[in-house]
Amino acid sequence: MAKASVSMVKVTDVYESLQESLKLCDGLAGLNLKDRILIKPNIVSWDFDLPFPPYGVVTTSVVISALVRILSEHGFSNLTIGEGALPMLSPDGDVVYEALGYKTLQERFGVKLVDFNKEEFVTTDYGDGFKLEIAKQALEAEKIINVPVLKTHNQAKVSLGIKNLKGCLSKKSKQSCHGVGDEELSRMFPRIIDKLPVALTIIDGLYTLEKGPGPTGKAFRKDLLIASRDPFACDLVGAAILGYPAKEVPHLNHYANSHGCSLEVSDYEVTGESVADHQEYVTYDWEWSETDTGPVGFEKRGITGLAIRKYDSSLCTGCSVQYNPMLILLSSAFKGEPFPNVEVVSGKQQMAARGFDKTVLFGKCACHFNKDNPNIHKAIPIWGCPPDLEIFVEVLAHEEIKCDYNEYISFRNYLFGRYKESEGFNLADWSVK
Ligand code: SF4
Repeated sequence: MAKASVSMVKVTDVYESLQESLKLCDGLAGLNLKDRILIKPNIVSWDFDLPFPPYGVVTTSVVISALVRILSEHGFSNLTIGEGALPMLSPDGDVVYEALGYKTLQERFGVKLVDFNKEEFVTTDYGDGFKLEIAKQALEAEKIINVPVLKTHNQAKVSLGIKNLKGCLSKKSKQSCHGVGDEELSRMFPRIIDKLPVALTIIDGLYTLEKGPGPTGKAFRKDLLIASRDPFACDLVGAAILGYPAKEVPHLNHYANSHGCSLEVSDYEVTGESVADHQEYVTYDWEWSETDTGPVGFEKRGITGLAIRKYDSSLCTGCSVQYNPMLILLSSAFKGEPFPNVEVVSGKQQMAARGFDKTVLFGKCACHFNKDNPNIHKAIPIWGCPPDLEIFVEVLAHEEIKCDYNEYISFRNYLFGRYKESEGFNLADWSVK
């Protein structure tokens, strides 16, 4: 059997490099001119209220624009761009598409723009009683071109093509992917692709991101495009570039087992650049204290009286996006005195421990899971799915924990500002000329 082919191209000019990349992997071969083609970028979230650095977080518009232009030049005319960003934490899809320059693609090439969150979802049966609500537009596409980002993920290790398809799910199904036991994240989302006609994956590696998937991670310029008609092969090479052999990535293991794929890079044909030349380990996770009381940075600052249990994979993206800000807010409350013996739990399986005077239940799931927990002396429920940070500040203030929301705003400014002086970081990559 012929080896699946993956192309890897160093980006000089995005349009020319993408053409080269598609030529090397014969990327357009599976498409017919009349196909309804859905292009699926990664726009996990966006923010207009506070500074939002998209580097390594959101698919660049220059790659999407080059792709649309190439498809159009080849005569493909039935093109749609669709995404379902995090509901409640992202602005309306239309406004984001405008900011990303997609409206220009609509005018110039007749591309349709779809916000999955505003459209119909279809309950889709995967067998074994497993069902997911998938965007009708994704199910009805004849071909999907998946355009994820080359980034790490603090729960899944890497977030590439297979993971990017989670954006095709309804909010409810996105959340159900973050289950426990047999429904654990790494077993759930690799199944999404089985009902979707993914014909081509293009990993946008203009930037890469450590401690992803959101903007609290740190981005690096990488200038790579990785493409393949085989979605697993593409992810396997992307993972290798980030420093993760596929066998060490649980969801790639599950996918390989259920589809009979090899986990060895040597069993795939990589054309263009070599993996060895671009492989560079990118950290995926935050360091935590050995006693599971909080990030290592809290220990270093001498913060005591506070035990924040490390997030697990049952925490879905909504709560994950709020988790880091929650840490910043708690850190802002530290003025040299110990916290009043507080524990913080989150997600769907963290049982609050004995011995704390106050227990913060971060998010609806933690509130439900601990509702009859006899270990809790005083519960501080932060309801919400995901919880609201301003409510978090307000509720904790009643417990003599004075978080400062302005410090969170400063942190967001810092995240954005740290790229200003960095060479190669260009916000114009999220615009269409
Ligand atoms: S509360 Fe958080 S973990 Fe629970 S479903 Fe909502 S977003 Fe997910």
